[in-house]
Amino acid sequence: MYIICSDLEGIYTPEIWINVSKHTGIEELRLTTREVNDYNVLMRGRLSILKQHGLKLTDIQKVIRQLKPLQGAREFLDWLRSEYQLIIVSDTFREFADPLMEQLGRPTLLCHHLTTDEEGNITDYNLRQPDAKRKVVEALQNLNYKVIAIGDSYNDISMLRKAEKAILFRPPQNVIDENPDIPYVTSYEELRKIIIATTASEK
Ligand SMILES: [Mg+2]
Repeated sequence: MYIICSDLEGIYTPEIWINVSKHTGIEELRLTTREVNDYNVLMRGRLSILKQHGLKLTDIQKVIRQLKPLQGAREFLDWLRSEYQLIIVSDTFREFADPLMEQLGRPTLLCHHLTTDEEGNITDYNLRQPDAKRKVVEALQNLNYKVIAIGDSYNDISMLRKAEKAILFRPPQNVIDENPDIPYVTSYEELRKIIIATTASEK
């Protein structure tokens, strides 16, 4: 029996931090897991930039509330969830994801959470567990599922490598170059086809 573990940003939604960068004009916030492969280095940097600029959680939530899912994402997810069990496994935070999850029909989401102080400053981030994405795949395999993993960035690679079937969706060139054995697709239609083909003999 197959189950699907999919990343969120870059697959169904825009990159949240890139949009925060655009809306706030803070260029340094543009970096994502697409460019920086150490998530802790990336997050420590982001938190210190927010502090420097006095940006609070509500400022970021305001930006996120204006974001829309990627074109065709909701339709694809509705199809996927009508045919398969799906878990979205993300390195975002509960406090950020909610407005986007609502627009996606609230699929199951496993992600991290933030710590804020009484003034609403983000003071820390709490990883759900180390190597959280790969751990989800392992846990599901222990429940006797086979996993199809979908991702686009460095932070997805350990999840993709653990899964029975890995698919990259619209990855940047450096991720393609470093993982030439993982197939990549650029449209939801191709993604649908590869999932159907993978599960043809056993759903
Ligand atoms: Mg992503």
